[in-house]
Amino acid sequence: MSILFQHIIYGPVRSRRFGHSLGMNLLPVNSKICTYNCIYCECGWNPENTQHDIFANKKVFLQELEKNLAFIQSTQQPLDVLTYAGNGEPTLHPEFLTIAQEVAKLRDKYAYGKKIVLLTNGTTIFHHDIKQSLLYIDLPVFKIDSAKYETIKRINQPHAKFNLEQYIETLLNLNRPIAIQTMLVKGLVNNQWVDNSSNEEVQLLLDIYKRIRPIYVMLYSLDRKPPLSSLQKIESAVIEQVAKQIEQSGIKVLWV
Ligand code: SF4
Repeated sequence: MSILFQHIIYGPVRSRRFGHSLGMNLLPVNSKICTYNCIYCECGWNPENTQHDIFANKKVFLQELEKNLAFIQSTQQPLDVLTYAGNGEPTLHPEFLTIAQEVAKLRDKYAYGKKIVLLTNGTTIFHHDIKQSLLYIDLPVFKIDSAKYETIKRINQPHAKFNLEQYIETLLNLNRPIAIQTMLVKGLVNNQWVDNSSNEEVQLLLDIYKRIRPIYVMLYSLDRKPPLSSLQKIESAVIEQVAKQIEQSGIKVLWV
């Protein structure tokens, strides 16, 4: 069952990775917009007709964020991070750069010292504005689910051709701390067996992690029923094994 975020600001929610997280959804509250169409996406499949004029209104979004941050501060609610996530890819918002600048100012005013996290599939990182916006993000978390283009095509279903090598080079050239998120899944996809937790896939992923040297890798497994019903959750023992291999290469891992 897919879950769409019904609000532009939600939480603080207890996040599996970040603690008490105030969610920021720049995408529509009733629909998903993404450059990927991941077979495991908790927001479900991309709609057939995407309306790109229904992103969160910048002024309304910032007012809503300020109201929430002021309330959290006055009631002394626990807050660890502010997280860009929501119904799709946050950086697709046409005003993402200026929004990121304003969000950082509001964070400094009401929640000084708390980190701003961006969960992104990374497909927009080639754009100058998006690179600039990272100046206002403490921790960008980039998606890499496989080192093989065929597997990326099956798992993430990118809208446009995706050049993995160019992506890795761009991440390296950012020259700043980043994290990587990887979802491990297996199952039949268009009658082809896909398993990015296989030994071959994991060895190739390890090569990429070692090149990028992220501050950590976040390993995910299915938490809810995915849009592609034939997908299976990877067993905890397998994820533990993958996590061990990553740790042995000197890279920190977060997983549940
Ligand atoms: S990148 Fe994220 S939002 Fe986009 S389809 Fe994949 S899981 Fe869903």
